[in-house]
Amino acid sequence: MADQIFARSKSLFERARELIPAGVSSNSRFREPHPTYFRAAKGAEIWDADGNRYIDLILGNGAVILGHGDPRIEEAIRKSLECGLTIGVEWERVAELAEIFLDLVKTVDMVRFTNTGTEAMLHALHIARSATGRSRIAKAEGCYHGWTDPFFVSAFHDPAKAGPVNAMRSLPGTPGLDPGAVEDTVVFPFNDIENSVATIEAHADDLAAVFVEPVMIDIGYVQGRREYLHALQAVCEKNGIIFVLDEVLTSFRLAPGGAQEFYDLRPGLSIYGKAMGNGYPLAAVAGKEELMRLTEPGKGPAFVGTYNGHALSVAVALSVLPLLADGEAQRNLEEATVRLRSCFESCAAKRGFPGRLAGGAGHFQWYFNSDDVVDYRTAAASDAAKSSAFAAGLVDRGILAGTGLLFHQALSLAHTNAILEEIEEAFADSMDALVGG
Ligand code: PMP
Repeated sequence: MADQIFARSKSLFERARELIPAGVSSNSRFREPHPTYFRAAKGAEIWDADGNRYIDLILGNGAVILGHGDPRIEEAIRKSLECGLTIGVEWERVAELAEIFLDLVKTVDMVRFTNTGTEAMLHALHIARSATGRSRIAKAEGCYHGWTDPFFVSAFHDPAKAGPVNAMRSLPGTPGLDPGAVEDTVVFPFNDIENSVATIEAHADDLAAVFVEPVMIDIGYVQGRREYLHALQAVCEKNGIIFVLDEVLTSFRLAPGGAQEFYDLRPGLSIYGKAMGNGYPLAAVAGKEELMRLTEPGKGPAFVGTYNGHALSVAVALSVLPLLADGEAQRNLEEATVRLRSCFESCAAKRGFPGRLAGGAGHFQWYFNSDDVVDYRTAAASDAAKSSAFAAGLVDRGILAGTGLLFHQALSLAHTNAILEEIEEAFADSMDALVGG
């Protein structure tokens, strides 16, 4: 990459790094030799500070389902600004949003809004502890549920240190966690019914909740098997453990009612975020009435937050959700994903690579290996060098992709045929560069 093309990003980094660690607000935005700084985005496209144009496959880490700057959303924001409300009191339109939400997600009784998936996870944990009188949790290895102590466990870790699948070790996903909290989180192997059920049953008397992503998307795209997810739900029901489905990335994408509609699951609680706000900060915890009502004043755990149910985010979601209600958006995203999968896999086959693209409903990741990717360990064992080189090749060709192996790419409804064609061309060219290299 010619240095001068990125001169402004480079100088912005030099300025920012003196003031902001790594020069970015989230470590996932850091790239070598310097992060790229962005100026504007519209639809499927995004322009950096030097004026370079990209097709965006990052899309707010999968949040921007309609595309950037959708005029319907901008109009809703303008209207909400006119009313002058932000926070501290409840906006009169919040019940309307709950009605639309519950109309789409028919498997839950009640919903409560907050700002980020990380916060919503903690609310679910407090509700589960309050309902069961137990304190520990269990989670699947590799699932990402935000960065708090009980949840940032056995995520993005070194699988070589994590023990056998029938006796997994809980490992911190980052330094700085409370070792007691890490130890208290029980870890079981994703998609492995026998060992997951045995692990959960062995700790059942201590477990308030079992948490799982129905599809592990934060580390790429690892689909939960239907019978596996049902086995988790069943062992929770049998042992009085709250089954919590993390739908931050699957909601409104796998089906209008999310993964629980797609897989026919009935979790006690579930967590929402990303798509419903189209990039604006909005998350939710939803679930069975008897659990959700515990968060009413004086009954159980606090549910508070200065920015909860922010008028701007509520206004956005009021416009986004009706557009995701009839199943057409999900069909279009699935079609686009299948199209890119077949392009990627035929490009790889032609060049003799054992490559596959795993994906669904507009989330996907490529893997350069011949083994099936079914859990964290098989995902982490994929060819990281080839995966990153392929992604870097895409970036060189104007496709803004995540370059880490344990990362996911996203599509929006603004990724038109013409945009998909550009991506397909870049897939072929980047694969050619891999052969050359
Ligand atoms: N759960 C999942 C499945 C996620 O993908 C994320 C965010 N990547 C979170 C939880 C945490 O959400 P947030 O970043 O909004 O705190």
